[in-house]
Amino acid sequence: MYPFNYSGLLGRRPNFSPRRARDSPCLVHHRLGIPRHVAYNGIVQAISRITCTITRMSAEHTPAHQLHRLVETIRHCTRCRLHQTRTHAVPGDGPFDADIMFIGEAPGYHEDRQGRPFVGAAGKYLNDLLARNGLDRSRIYITNILKCRPPRNRDPLPDEIAACRPFLERQIALINPRIIVTLGRFALQFFFPNASITRVHGQARQKGGRWYFPTFHPAAALHQPRWQPLIEEDFRKLAELLQALTVSEGPVYHQLSLFPADDVDSGPGEGHPGAGTHGQADIDPPHS
Ligand code: SF4
Repeated sequence: MYPFNYSGLLGRRPNFSPRRARDSPCLVHHRLGIPRHVAYNGIVQAISRITCTITRMSAEHTPAHQLHRLVETIRHCTRCRLHQTRTHAVPGDGPFDADIMFIGEAPGYHEDRQGRPFVGAAGKYLNDLLARNGLDRSRIYITNILKCRPPRNRDPLPDEIAACRPFLERQIALINPRIIVTLGRFALQFFFPNASITRVHGQARQKGGRWYFPTFHPAAALHQPRWQPLIEEDFRKLAELLQALTVSEGPVYHQLSLFPADDVDSGPGEGHPGAGTHGQADIDPPHS
């Protein structure tokens, strides 16, 4: 038994009338004679409008929404000459919260046609490398240094890279991947301008709280079969790195090989990737 009778609190008051309560003037608006339910509906609508505005403003500031807007900006970009010859810009593909980001050089013929990265022969080879090492492409964000195809798949020019650089930097800031895999020398030198791909491929390096893992461009390996065992070994190392990162972020790192100290410069964002290539252009025929 309850020690106190709650029935009086839960029940209606003796003279309560819903209709009278509804039609009596609102306490706030009684001077204007506005019925309570009209005033109530107005307050509810105002709160609803404020809530919707806050929700919309919050959604507009999520990384997913900002990435979507960035993609739209890239699709209509005219910052450099490449917009004149492209069929489609290729902003990138993958989840906005990916832990892994792959960065290639520039779209090729099939990418330009479809507006998606790595869908040609190099893309198939990339898919094969991923699958062989148990990596799921759908969980990786894939993009390029340049978002538009250079004519005849020529090398990116420094001014084109400079014009397109803010897009990639913004993508990295929004996605915030744990590890960036650079494919080919242009992607490597975007972050480490003085690094040589033949010397540092397959060697992970941590910088600014993020891992970088350079390897060859899949198109280069297709073009030069002698590079295929190297890129395949690199992908095995990449799988090991990812497994190590998954298990622990402590002592596991010490087992990974790092860049030799004289192979890196002071860091990303300085100079253009064309500098310091050390004659490596022959190993890096481009484009996905
Ligand atoms: S390559 Fe980059 S900067 Fe040049 S037009 Fe395309 S999106 Fe714009």
